[in-house]
Amino acid sequence: MGSSIAYHLIRRDTSLKLAVVERDPTYARASSALSMGNARIQFSLGENIRISQYAFSALARFEEEMIVNEIPPNISYRREGNLMIIDPDMTDAAKQAFSLQQELDCRVEWWSSEDIRQRYPLYRPADTDSGTFGTEDGHFDGYAVVMGYRKKAASLGAVYLQDSVTRILHGNGHVTGIETASGDSPAAPIVINCAGAWAADVALSAGIDLPILPIMRQVFAIDTAIKPDGPLPLTVLPSGLYFRSETGGLLLVGKSMDDDPVGFDFSWDDKRFMDVLWPEMAAFVPAFDRAKLVRGWAGLYAVNTLDSNAILGEWPELGGFYLANGFSGHGLQQAPAVGRYMAEVILNLPHELDLSIFSPKRILGKKPISEKGVI
Ligand SMILES: Cc1cc2nc3c(=O)[nH]c(=O)nc-3n(C[C@H](O)[C@H](O)[C@H](O)COP(=O)(O)OP(=O)(O)OC[C@H]3O[C@@H](n4cnc5c(N)ncnc54)[C@H](O)[C@@H]3O)c2cc1C
Repeated sequence: MGSSIAYHLIRRDTSLKLAVVERDPTYARASSALSMGNARIQFSLGENIRISQYAFSALARFEEEMIVNEIPPNISYRREGNLMIIDPDMTDAAKQAFSLQQELDCRVEWWSSEDIRQRYPLYRPADTDSGTFGTEDGHFDGYAVVMGYRKKAASLGAVYLQDSVTRILHGNGHVTGIETASGDSPAAPIVINCAGAWAADVALSAGIDLPILPIMRQVFAIDTAIKPDGPLPLTVLPSGLYFRSETGGLLLVGKSMDDDPVGFDFSWDDKRFMDVLWPEMAAFVPAFDRAKLVRGWAGLYAVNTLDSNAILGEWPELGGFYLANGFSGHGLQQAPAVGRYMAEVILNLPHELDLSIFSPKRILGKKPISEKGVI
């Protein structure tokens, strides 16, 4: 988010004095680098759908747009589809989301269990199952996208400072700058909080209480004895368990669970895969009952506990303090649209896509936005 916003700001106005303060330029614990890198159209809120429509076009031209010194980034964008298996109890909600997606010209198909079996013969959906398939959904390399934005923003004049923000400075209801761990306190009339899972800590240093929790999510890479004939789409079961093909003949598997630890915990646990995820996956794809766990990792969702949606814009009670936070499990794909929107808001430009529904005002008013497709 930090580098996307920096890029979108500075491409509009190269005279801006803009610094991105990042404490870890390797991004080893940044959610963007630890993400599944999925982009999907299958949301139920119009704005989230439109954000993804923009992501599809921005990702398709990303390598060309982010060329620096004639070297394009390689983001490995693969559009292998997303298949959401519908919980029979949620069929009405799925139908509503599906018709909205169709109204908005999205390429999504409704499949019966027979359609699912025909397309993916290893799958064993129940006869009563159905699914929606987003033909343009897919995945990309999140770290490469971060670096693409970073290098392009830097080439246009954004400065990258390796430091940790310890405090937001303010006076008379307006931001005045930041204080950093190295002892610097640069002045700035505008500060944008893009601290991901650490966003609540940064905001708290200005006395602002954001409903954002860091929650650990784990991903596992497995090598199955039986391989599918072609790539498997990101397949999401009603329980929330998901898997998809990864390069090297591997599969990535994950699931958000109610007892996932809250806090800055990056330890992953193979027992969770063995005890919970594997049996659940093998019930849907019996061919995967023989597999080797190759590796795993843990990253953090910045969960917006009010409504699991983005918080975008200026904090109503502190002038010049902007938020791009709370993306929960779907922020990486939102980086292009959020970067563009935040730049428009800050530079007072007309909006290509109005995202004011995500305004921080709803946090103060405790008015959640409804999105039934969020994972
Ligand atoms: C396992 C997993 C799977 C996911 N899958 C998907 C997916 O398929 N699709 C999708 O769209 N999203 C997915 N997400 C969510 C997505 O990764 C995030 O929503 C998105 O990357 C958030 O970007 P960000 O820039 O806000 O945060 P981050 O990428 O975490 O960046 C925040 C940065 O702020 C820095 N920072 C924090 N505090 C300070 C400070 N005080 N001073 C200086 N620097 C600081 C950190 O070092 C970090 O680099 C997934 C997340 C996880 C963990």
